[in-house]
Amino acid sequence: MKKLDGKIALITGGGRGIGRAIALAFAREGAAVALVARTATEVERVASEIEEECGVETLHAACDVSDAASVGRAFARLAEKFGRGCDILVNNAGIAESAPLSKTDDEMWQRHLAVNLSGTFYCTRAALPRMIERGWGRVINVASIAGKTGAPYIAAYAASKHGVLGLTRSAALEVATRGVTVNAICPGYVDTDMTTRALANIEAKTGRPAAETLEAIKRMSPQGRLVTAEEVAAVALLLASEEGRGITGQAINVDGGSVLF
Ligand code: NAP
Repeated sequence: MKKLDGKIALITGGGRGIGRAIALAFAREGAAVALVARTATEVERVASEIEEECGVETLHAACDVSDAASVGRAFARLAEKFGRGCDILVNNAGIAESAPLSKTDDEMWQRHLAVNLSGTFYCTRAALPRMIERGWGRVINVASIAGKTGAPYIAAYAASKHGVLGLTRSAALEVATRGVTVNAICPGYVDTDMTTRALANIEAKTGRPAAETLEAIKRMSPQGRLVTAEEVAAVALLLASEEGRGITGQAINVDGGSVLF
């Protein structure tokens, strides 16, 4: 018996990076996985990879989590394929851009709130009723240590991730007696495309070589390294499993000790 046998997991942003690692970790424990992101080819590729390696059922769909109608269509596809909603929802889709506050335009501000915060809200709202009905559910929000602390040039990102923690804590208390847990994971810098893009962006804007910024980022962690997507996935697996049932309303750092609260 595997940890997630019989469970259906929906993972947003499942086309690469942390979302892909979580989908693989869940499928290896027997879960059927549904992957959504805007880039259809990426979720399709990860779904094929998972079917081949794990032999579980998969679904992949193009979906923009910042668009409530698009989220509604993805959940309709899920119900069509599996006959019910998801048991486990991982709100992982996210974007991260940086700019000084005075140069953060309305579009950039709204984009972060729309994808990182409203996207988490739309998917959670769509998933919770079926979880409550079945008396079992897991919502796992991939936030960030930027949901707990601030840093220069990331006001829009940090504000959206702080919002995710507020949503997590309130939702957790609302469904605490219904067999449903709601938690957040707060990674530090993870070795994914998002970090590579951030380094390239800094190089383009300031001329500071990406390799130099990477070393500076590593030094910010007491462990002197980036976190891996697999390390984030391992925490997601604990939260998703039966053994994680007593953990709710938490925001768990996976950051090598950078933030101690
Ligand atoms: P990534 O490699 O850039 O992957 C992000 C995923 O989200 C992609 O699949 C992307 O696919 C999807 N996505 C973006 N906008 C979307 C939208 N509007 N609708 C649906 N899907 C969307 O980033 P990652 O590093 O794996 O990050 C995953 C999560 O971890 C994010 O929430 C991020 O904020 C958080 N996080 C990352 C780090 C880090 O250092 N990498 C640190 C802390 C927290 P499409 O572009 O095709 O839509």
